[in-house]
Amino acid sequence: MNPSSNIWIRRQQCPCGDWKCYIISDGDDQPSVSPQPAKKEKTLSLPTSEAVFTPYVGQIFKTDDEAFEYYSNFARKNGFSIRKARSTESQNLGVYRRDFVCHRSGFNQPRKKANVEHPRDRKSVRCGCDAKLYLTKEIVNNATQWYISQFSNVHNHELLEDDQVRLLPAYRKIQEADQERILLLSKAGFPVNRIVKLLEIEKGLQPGQLPFIEKDVRNFVRTCKKTVQENDALLNEKRESDAIELLEACKRMTEKDADFVYEYTKDENEKVENIAWSYGHSARAFAAFGDVVTFDTSYRSITYGLLLGIWFGMDNHGKAIFLGCVLLQEESANSYSWALQTFVRFMRGRRPQTILTDLESGLRDAIARELPNTKHVISIWHVQSKLASWFSTTLGSQYAEFKAELDTLCHLERMDEFELKWNHVMTQFGLVADKHIALLFSYRDSWPLSLIRGYFVAQAMTAEYSKSVDTFVKEILTSQTCLHVFFEQVGVASRSVNQAARNVQYMHMKTCMPIEEHAQSILTPYAFNVLQNEMVLSLQYAMTEMPNGSCLVRHHKKLDRECLIIWTPEDELIHCSCKEFEHSGILCRHSIRVLVAKNFFRLPERYFPLRWRLESSLVPVDDHNVLTSRSDCVRAFHSLAASLLTESLTSKERFNYVNRELSSLIDRVRDMPAVDDSAANTAPSNVSESFQC
Ligand SMILES: [Zn+2]
Ligand SMILES: [Zn+2]
Ligand SMILES: [Zn+2]
Repeated sequence: MNPSSNIWIRRQQCPCGDWKCYIISDGDDQPSVSPQPAKKEKTLSLPTSEAVFTPYVGQIFKTDDEAFEYYSNFARKNGFSIRKARSTESQNLGVYRRDFVCHRSGFNQPRKKANVEHPRDRKSVRCGCDAKLYLTKEIVNNATQWYISQFSNVHNHELLEDDQVRLLPAYRKIQEADQERILLLSKAGFPVNRIVKLLEIEKGLQPGQLPFIEKDVRNFVRTCKKTVQENDALLNEKRESDAIELLEACKRMTEKDADFVYEYTKDENEKVENIAWSYGHSARAFAAFGDVVTFDTSYRSITYGLLLGIWFGMDNHGKAIFLGCVLLQEESANSYSWALQTFVRFMRGRRPQTILTDLESGLRDAIARELPNTKHVISIWHVQSKLASWFSTTLGSQYAEFKAELDTLCHLERMDEFELKWNHVMTQFGLVADKHIALLFSYRDSWPLSLIRGYFVAQAMTAEYSKSVDTFVKEILTSQTCLHVFFEQVGVASRSVNQAARNVQYMHMKTCMPIEEHAQSILTPYAFNVLQNEMVLSLQYAMTEMPNGSCLVRHHKKLDRECLIIWTPEDELIHCSCKEFEHSGILCRHSIRVLVAKNFFRLPERYFPLRWRLESSLVPVDDHNVLTSRSDCVRAFHSLAASLLTESLTSKERFNYVNRELSSLIDRVRDMPAVDDSAANTAPSNVSESFQC
């Protein structure tokens, strides 16, 4: 690793403040709803679910990277690894050929002299193996693609068994999730062999089962130390000059873009301490969708010793939008306070209704101080992702039961009930004195689902959203050497998320209710999808009207969770005890059930909040084609179906024939993809449905 490159790591510090706590992170995966106990953690990240077929000449890939990954997976399953060999380039085509070979291909160049710097007598594994895959680029219909022009799987050496193949250098990797843990232990003075043992114990693995070996840990620690300590003088200089460069980049940006804003603080030595910036398009996006803000603080640069905080919002299409970002020297309440004040200034004095963060005491204090009227919510993922690390070892076989109890707790609707039952459960599991239990309890206003239901979070607690935030962060953290490159990457990525045209695809009707068609013409496909789901489910509910005019709505099977609905006809106001509308801005199935029974053919206007309407889109959406084609389709089908019905009802034979053919037609249609390639706009699953899912 180049010592001058900027190394970002995912923060793993336990919110209790104790560095000895080990937090298992889900790493690259999206947050898992019920994290597996540490003991079940897999050591291999092989895509075992998919069979990797043998590559063949003529096989086509969209990109060369895709081909490399495919071949690499194939190699891994077959007991070898691969590396990139020659590539051939031309002026017109760029790189048009890439050769990938077996890791034992070629021979080592004989050294003229014994290497003095590296006196290790390294035995080369290269034995001239001729197994290979050559790729050639071609252009078909103006699009680039790559095909396999040569392939051989004949090796002149033995292939490895699975437990050996994972130790080949190409497959050994220290996951992001383990990096900070290793650095922390190393800082605390643990030698590398002890660190490896400790990680094995923490993860409940047999010796030698980690996805990396001692040598990798040693190299990793050495590289990081080199970056941070040995080059400290150099680094200090780099830090200073890079911070100044970043400031200059900001200054230049204000000349280009009058709406760009930035602020910074200096320490007592006149050195740049904290810096934050945001764009005009961010402030405009905030004006439309600033109700709910997610403040992500999951990465830190070890090169610059800076914490990265990014503010995100969610637009009416359910996509993450970039609102601003900050680099902080310290993780204290004071620096978070500065960050929040600056953010409010960037957003022209406006404050969000709700802010979602991870568990973090400094941040919590700062939010209480700077945003007293904003609801602080801890995204449930941040709680769930830590439970296994905190309790699975302590509780052992009781862990599953504990989680089930926690789930029940999460659904209690009153704080006094919650507190009472909490004490009861913690006594039952012997966790009364546990520091993490105390921590969770101290945040009880912010995470138990029932208790935060009355606060608006839009759909910012869905897995899809948290994944899109994570993807954005990863994108801006890749391959950069200094802060102003980082700055440029943020600029490009933020423009691309805030100014991208959203797909509007044809939305299928699922009920025959007029309220569905009406809603479809107002909402974005994303919001419509969520509401449509509620409409479909509303059909499973029974309604009982009470003498005072309010209604009870309950599921036809699950009798326990009954909802009370209060309906004020004069104002067309409906309120359901499930508080879904207050929580997400989407009317719940229970209210829909009541409104339909009251002969509503359109939902009242107020239940289409501006933030979910198509008309609020940041980039004008061209929905004309979609709507025209939709109504055309409907009309065409209606007329066809009507003639089909008339014609087929005249004889039994006709009817049977049509019935048979239509059934098979439906099967065939169902086998086709449900969305067009370009329109991958999926509905979110509502996380608040169940704690465990
Ligand atoms: Zn802890
Ligand atoms: Zn080979
Ligand atoms: Zn409801």
